[in-house]
Amino acid sequence: MAKYQRIVLKLSGEVLAGGAYFGISTERVKSLAAEIAEVSRTGVQIGLVVGGGNFFRGVAAAAKDMDRVTADHMGMLATVINALALQDALEKAGVPTRVMTAIEMHEVAEPYIRRRAIRHLEKGRIVIFAAGTSNPYFSTDTAATLRALEIHAQVIAKATRVEGVYDKDPMRFPDAVLYREVSYLEVLAKALGVMDASAVAMCRDNQLAILVFNLNTYGNIMRISMGEPVGTLIH
Ligand code: UDP
Repeated sequence: MAKYQRIVLKLSGEVLAGGAYFGISTERVKSLAAEIAEVSRTGVQIGLVVGGGNFFRGVAAAAKDMDRVTADHMGMLATVINALALQDALEKAGVPTRVMTAIEMHEVAEPYIRRRAIRHLEKGRIVIFAAGTSNPYFSTDTAATLRALEIHAQVIAKATRVEGVYDKDPMRFPDAVLYREVSYLEVLAKALGVMDASAVAMCRDNQLAILVFNLNTYGNIMRISMGEPVGTLIH
């Protein structure tokens, strides 16, 4: 029996690139889709929010001479490309999906309508929320928070490349200590850098739990859904 009935899974764009830093690895997308499909089949309702960092980020060096708003629009469009790649792979894995975009593009996907999104979830469709919040100066972490609150998800599962939240950067400091649980306040005060501060603050203000976990360990999404102790719970 799953612990969570409805979750929002936040994937950065980079995870779709596999070993590379740019673009889409069809192999990685396929294996990810298989893992997510398995969880969906247990009856857990899944909203997916995907980033666009494997193509473009509004704050990236490539955008330094650009108007920020234009650059952010490019970043949001990048998330749509990723959403379509995930949709394709998930449907091949046998799960019905809908892509809903915060920026309207009817020929490509449905516009985001909250009640319709909830209906899709209730019917067992994975909903992939694309184009962030549609607003520049935000991130897909904030988009994940916003959507999770709107659809009344019980948790945001935030995928990373490490086990969870550490007291310092585990990539740079081998003695970094992993937290099993940590408060929103501590994440913000110590700038633990797992998620955008604005997203963490929004979760805190609305008491939405965040579970930070290692996506590179196969089966972790299932473990989270079943309530097994994985990663770090920010609450
Ligand atoms: N973005 C935005 N508003 C949003 C979400 C995203 O402007 O609500 C833009 C922003 O430029 C961001 C890019 O889209 O850098 C890609 O999103 P993000 O950096 O969150 O992707 P990730 O790091 O998760 O791959």
